[in-house]
Amino acid sequence: MAKRPILTLPDERLRAIAEPIEKIDDAIKALAQDMLDTMYDAPGIGLAAPQIGELHRIVVMDLAPDGAARDPIVMINPEILAYSDDTVTTEEGCLSIPELYYEVERPAEVTVRYTDLTGEVVERHAEDRLAICIQHELDHLDGVLYIDYLSRLKRDRVLKKFQKQARRAT
Ligand SMILES: [Zn+2]
Repeated sequence: MAKRPILTLPDERLRAIAEPIEKIDDAIKALAQDMLDTMYDAPGIGLAAPQIGELHRIVVMDLAPDGAARDPIVMINPEILAYSDDTVTTEEGCLSIPELYYEVERPAEVTVRYTDLTGEVVERHAEDRLAICIQHELDHLDGVLYIDYLSRLKRDRVLKKFQKQARRAT
């Protein structure tokens, strides 16, 4: 169990395609625990493995309200099977793009299929914040970031800000 550093823009690993997980072994269980520790510490409501530089198809989430008991969700090899036609616009942020929040329009509901940590295949219908969080986190597995849905002008402004920060840090 350990907290890991979270990669931020413009780290190239955030743009990589993550590999399917063949077997849920101790290494994957340890990775899931590290991801949860890292997410809770940040704090955040979701984290995908590429955000800590691990190019495996696994995401973690917890959308329990503040003050409620933790409700961790671990999704291995998740796939979205269906999207609703109706969309919703919500403000999103990302631990890899810290301190910025922008409105993004996405399908309001999704059906997702994934394998859980016990190896069981789960199919789940999600709406509200969970549906948005699932779409955001699964995008990370394909190297897609929520800023990709913004206008080119806004996206370029975000990218420039982080490129400048990275240059200053080196
Ligand atoms: Zn994110």
